[in-house]
Amino acid sequence: GMFEGLAGRLQEAFARLKSKGKLSEADVDEAMKEVRRALLAADVNFTVVRDFVARVRERAVGQEVMKSLTPAQQVIKIVHDELTALLGGKPSTLNLSGRPAVVMLVGLQGAGKTTTAGKLAQWVRKQGRRPLLVAADVYRPAAVRQLQTLGEALKVPVFSVDGDADPVEISKSSLERASQEGCDVVLVDTAGRLHVDDALMEELERMKAAVVPGEILLVVDAMTGQSAVEVAEAFHGRLGLTGAIFTKLDGDTKGGAALSILSVAGCPIKFAGVGEKLDALEPFYPDRMASRILGMGDVLTLIEKAQQTVDAEKAKQLERQLRAGEFSLEDFLDQLRQVRKLGPLDQLLGMLPGMNKIKGLGNLQVDERQLGRVEAIILSMTPEERRRPELIDASRRRRIASGSGTRVEDVGRLLKQFKEMRKMMKQFSGMGKKMARRKGFR
Ligand code: GDP
Repeated sequence: GMFEGLAGRLQEAFARLKSKGKLSEADVDEAMKEVRRALLAADVNFTVVRDFVARVRERAVGQEVMKSLTPAQQVIKIVHDELTALLGGKPSTLNLSGRPAVVMLVGLQGAGKTTTAGKLAQWVRKQGRRPLLVAADVYRPAAVRQLQTLGEALKVPVFSVDGDADPVEISKSSLERASQEGCDVVLVDTAGRLHVDDALMEELERMKAAVVPGEILLVVDAMTGQSAVEVAEAFHGRLGLTGAIFTKLDGDTKGGAALSILSVAGCPIKFAGVGEKLDALEPFYPDRMASRILGMGDVLTLIEKAQQTVDAEKAKQLERQLRAGEFSLEDFLDQLRQVRKLGPLDQLLGMLPGMNKIKGLGNLQVDERQLGRVEAIILSMTPEERRRPELIDASRRRRIASGSGTRVEDVGRLLKQFKEMRKMMKQFSGMGKKMARRKGFR
């Protein structure tokens, strides 16, 4: 999944620090060497890595000592802060101030522009606005049809012109259509090419001049790695982008492009596409992404999803437990069940704390049959055992295994994984609370 390699390597670097009570400059240097390797392996731009490591090292060594954190936590916190900054710091909002507000989507062919236009239409509507989709990709008739189909599915009006109309004219007349239809946000899907070329850029410049968009968003395929950053530089140079939307972050991207694009191309990420479906679009939160990269689990996103889907009381309780690091097997089972209700398991798994690290646990859950087995094992325990798994000795294990129709090894494995997960959560929870307070989270 997303950032898996990077998360794994960073966590290894920090695992070594964790066993230390006090950190020397040499410890920090050693960890930074690992961090540097991890970032380079994830395809982060070389100069970005160099500056990043220098900043972290300077802050870590010149330490503003905080009594509340262990030295290792302190380094992780600094890395978290700097990753957040690299990803843009504060989440950036979409400028929808005009009447109509105009958003132009640009990018190479296949990046996901048309799909993203549909996703954005849905998102904009959820904000209480009335979108109009504009099919200005006239060179690819299929793109016009694709947008019309999306519009029908979403019940969002689509403006298109038959024949070979000029995209500049189309976008101009779309503004009139918007006011006729009572639409207050115009989403323009523009043409893409296989490569950045001059003719395309010129056309986009003329469109920009004609409709004066409040947002020009570059849609880039995260799977294309560093070339996504080069594409961003090229488009930004000609058009002055206001932001980027990374698509296909549900795939196996190494993440380097997302971490480099702001420093190299000066372009903040505003949304992330995480699937082919129309609701698979997420506003981009730098701090949450940093947590995810560090394997702290994207607790906040998970909670937000849980609050939308599951009843709020349960979600609040889950939040408290995650933060407090109090977590029993009962909660674990409860969480598994809720997660199953929330939808695409593999997507959600990456958000749970420690999931990146505990490989076996990941497998255990993605497979529904295995999930059933985990459920059976936990259900065969007494309530007391679920709260205090340390009580479970060899004879209890045998009893639980026969009660659940599993093997003693299965019970042992689950207990071991759970213990590791709980340990990880404890390590992060103290830090999480402090960071949450600083950042003004609830
Ligand atoms: P365009 O040429 O830029 O308009 O690209 P399309 O919108 O036609 O998308 C190209 C392909 O990428 C399609 O098969 C989309 O379903 C797929 N796609 C777009 N966004 C995402 C995403 O966030 N995740 C995944 N998995 N696929 C996506």
